[in-house]
Amino acid sequence: MAYAYDDTNIFARILRGEIPNKTVLETEHTLAFLDIGPQAPVHVLVIPKGKYVNFDHFATDASADEIADFTRAAGEVCRITGVGPGEGGAGYRTISNAGAHGVQEVPHYHLHILGGRVLGRMLAKPD
Ligand code: AMP
Repeated sequence: MAYAYDDTNIFARILRGEIPNKTVLETEHTLAFLDIGPQAPVHVLVIPKGKYVNFDHFATDASADEIADFTRAAGEVCRITGVGPGEGGAGYRTISNAGAHGVQEVPHYHLHILGGRVLGRMLAKPD
């Protein structure tokens, strides 16, 4: 089934410059900005500029250039924010939520990069 992209989602509006964001990094195909409700001292969202709904949509339909640009930009965010263990940082977690079971709120593909504190185990059990 093909994905339908909703142009009214909040990240589409950020990309169109309709609402502000706190940019961490911008490249040809990618934008990284601070999450408005940070869940850790470092909480950055990395999004492609293209119209992709979630990770599997992006991985399937994005060009090799877009995928390379996005992946390099996400790695650069780890370096810029100082969380990358390869450069002396204490570590981080990447998360990408998709669909109902992933509890995805914004239907534009995004990678959360979280760090700056011990993040606990990977998943909490539902209440
Ligand atoms: P998800 O549940 O994976 O779709 O996460 C969506 C994330 O977008 C949440 O962590 C929100 O805090 C964040 N968010 C929503 N609106 C904005 C905004 N205008 N600027 C930055 N982050 C936002």
